[in-house]
Amino acid sequence: MSTFTVLNPATEQAVASVPASSAEQADEAISRAAAAQPGWRAVAPGERASLLRRFADVVDAHNEELAQLEVTGTGHPVGQARWEAGNVAAVLRYYSAGPERLLGQQIPVPGGLNVTFKEPVGIVGLIVPWNFPMPILGWGLGPALAAGNPVIAKPAERTPLTAIRIGELALEAGLPEGVFQVLPGKGSVVGQRLVDHELVRKIVFTGSTEVGSKLMADCARQVKRVTLELGGKSANIVFADADLEQAAATAPYAVFDNAGQDCCARSRILVERSVFDRFMELLEPAVLGVAVGDPGDPGTEMGPLISAEHRARVASYVPDGAPVAFRGQAPAGPGYWYPPTVLAPVGADDPALTEEVFGPVVTVVPVEDEAEAIRIANDTPYGLSGSIWTRDIGRALRVARAVETGNLSVNSHASVRYWTPFGGFKQSGLGRELGPDALDAFTEVKNVFIATE
Ligand code: NDP
Repeated sequence: MSTFTVLNPATEQAVASVPASSAEQADEAISRAAAAQPGWRAVAPGERASLLRRFADVVDAHNEELAQLEVTGTGHPVGQARWEAGNVAAVLRYYSAGPERLLGQQIPVPGGLNVTFKEPVGIVGLIVPWNFPMPILGWGLGPALAAGNPVIAKPAERTPLTAIRIGELALEAGLPEGVFQVLPGKGSVVGQRLVDHELVRKIVFTGSTEVGSKLMADCARQVKRVTLELGGKSANIVFADADLEQAAATAPYAVFDNAGQDCCARSRILVERSVFDRFMELLEPAVLGVAVGDPGDPGTEMGPLISAEHRARVASYVPDGAPVAFRGQAPAGPGYWYPPTVLAPVGADDPALTEEVFGPVVTVVPVEDEAEAIRIANDTPYGLSGSIWTRDIGRALRVARAVETGNLSVNSHASVRYWTPFGGFKQSGLGRELGPDALDAFTEVKNVFIATE
């Protein structure tokens, strides 16, 4: 059996060797899921709910272990990694309310009675990226299991360790064999097999727009259900009437969290021209203050990038002579480090302004007014996230309605709350995850007429 090596991005040292599953092993896992499916959908709602709550409790009991795996396997700062493991448990607990709320309708019809049922969609393939291995796994896993579906997760090759452990914890919590399986392996082999196999009825994919759109086309051949969470190039819009201190203090965390490897990163800061210079004065100390370093240190706010290749890709957006306004620190020596970097002024066609960098690089652009801010914010094929800073509530709502993006924050840099819907406009994705309606993405509506005459 072939294996792949997981490297610690902070040290470049090998931390684990993981077997790479084959297409045949994916087929075997799909057979196991198919065998588990009737039993799992037949588990009484209350029992399925308590199994999910027990699963959440077991994940919580292993929070520190999972966090440490993520620190060494992905370079995430330990505080962030603890939050990520906690997020898996919180999402499982939130959706544990789902099995008892899969309500249908009774619709008046002549000559009888019409009722609807929410049936499980079938085997779900979760294809997970390397940037947030635990939360993104949990966002698909919670509602898919709650709706009565077996799940097979394919973690990213570089970051399989926490998913493998969460798969073991599911069994420890009492989930039946075959209901949740984790298959580490190559996307082009295992992931593609999940997409192509007829028994897999739904794919949940998070990753690049390039792979996502290909998988969508592949799924179309079988009219397979698909949810896509893809790239982003989100705007952080700062108007002159905003609390500039707060906007500037949080702007680094809106883009440099997870070293910028975040589809919600607000990597374009659009600042009303009358306050541009003041904003830059405030932004500089905030950027220089980002604590970049040892992911195991609880004070660290930003760790390394995921790989040497990815660092080279990020660095290509800051070529020699690039307009670096200022730049934070990064450790020297081993590790895929890249300092928080602010570019200004940039040309309208600079790739750092127009493309998803997926690293700690932000561009800052002056805008004349509200209309120009909206125009530039929307001048991208993406539409995932964004922030608006203003004290004018009318403007906040006007701009929020005009920006073509799925998730916006007013006077805040936060993106994802698991109890609210998350997803993208345009090429940022298809469908919504999280929030109260996510169960609908994992069920089919069955409509039954019962004659009474
Ligand atoms: P990919 O889209 O290649 O990978 C995401 C996931 O899809 C991984 O699990 C990958 O497996 C799997 N995959 C790849 N090819 C296939 C396939 N043919 N069939 C099924 N599954 C497949 O993203 P990358 O990791 O290459 O990152 C590239 C860029 O994508 C980033 O720089 C960033 O711009 C963007 N990205 C966006 C993310 C987001 O959150 N929206 C997350 C990650 C990346 P494997 O690990 O084996 O390749």
